[in-house]
Amino acid sequence: MWERYFDNAATTPLDPCVLEAMLPYLGDEFGNANSLHAWGRRANDAVEHSRAQVADAIGADDPAQIIFTSGATEGNNWVLSNFRDGAVSPFEHSSVWETAKACGMAMLQNDGLNLCAPDGRLPFISVMAVNNEIGTRLDVSGMRPCAAVLHSDITQAAAKYATDLDHLDYATFSAHKIYGPKGVGALYMRDAPLSPMLHGGEHEQGLRAGTLNVAGIVGIGFAAALARENRESDSLHATNLGQIVEEELQGLSDFQVNGGSNRAPHILSLSFLGVQGEALVVELDAAGYGISSGAACSSHSTEPSHVLTALGVQREWLQGTVRVSFGRFNTAAAARGLGSALSKAVAGLRILR
Ligand code: PMP
Repeated sequence: MWERYFDNAATTPLDPCVLEAMLPYLGDEFGNANSLHAWGRRANDAVEHSRAQVADAIGADDPAQIIFTSGATEGNNWVLSNFRDGAVSPFEHSSVWETAKACGMAMLQNDGLNLCAPDGRLPFISVMAVNNEIGTRLDVSGMRPCAAVLHSDITQAAAKYATDLDHLDYATFSAHKIYGPKGVGALYMRDAPLSPMLHGGEHEQGLRAGTLNVAGIVGIGFAAALARENRESDSLHATNLGQIVEEELQGLSDFQVNGGSNRAPHILSLSFLGVQGEALVVELDAAGYGISSGAACSSHSTEPSHVLTALGVQREWLQGTVRVSFGRFNTAAAARGLGSALSKAVAGLRILR
């Protein structure tokens, strides 16, 4: 049933190849990567191999620039709370946004999808690479001249699209958006170490203490390498699936694609006038398809999406918004079925109005 799951921006299935690579480290190879004996050395070799795979997949110069974390939420909290003074874009994921608010950071102004340069140079700026609700690629490097330190949440871009780390001081992402396991992620730091996230042992250059999650780390390395290897084909596949869904919607009036033309192809944000996004999610679920009405992390909130609000999407359109997100395991037939089911659901709900 993976082919009917269209919520790949929330999480992706674990690729069977990734699972296979991880399994030895959940079985015979159980060693603590910090131990000096053979079991420990084998676990450590696996961790360092993964670090090199991650560095290579995201285009980092040196594996030592990669620190393993529990995911993007941890990485984002860690980076932002180290700087405290600065600004973030209005399109950020809640793990950046809420941390920025808690730290008293400012929000950058925007003109539609364009971020406005702040007055003067700021000590810190965070701008995500690809937005998780609308798929827009944001102009991260455009903020380089305005920031002493520049961070990017690359969760929706890492390994699957080219990310230019040259402009960045820090970048953060999770494995489970690239067919890896949940609960593991990575932080890229160009040269300046952060102050420690967790105190204790000397793991991860003394910055994040705690026995390493070897199987998870093997999973992120393998998943990142696979995503890098399949970058072009996965991206083309997502583009084709998006076109199929849009074709199926052509009979409908009053719908729009959000996010502008510079979008990552795996995320398609659609707004339909006169319907509720949640109702569409429920209807599609009943038809056997998984889509979402926004970011999974705020799917239980009744507040309108801060991303769509910042974009200036009007309330009546905003309410009727759903996110369809494509992945490696979706098929053209399932995309056609989804588009047709979505079209029928919108038409049916509009009649009931
Ligand atoms: N940033 C972005 C852009 C995301 O899409 C997500 C996941 N929804 C996160 C951060 C948080 O990732 P995690 O839940 O794995 O910590």
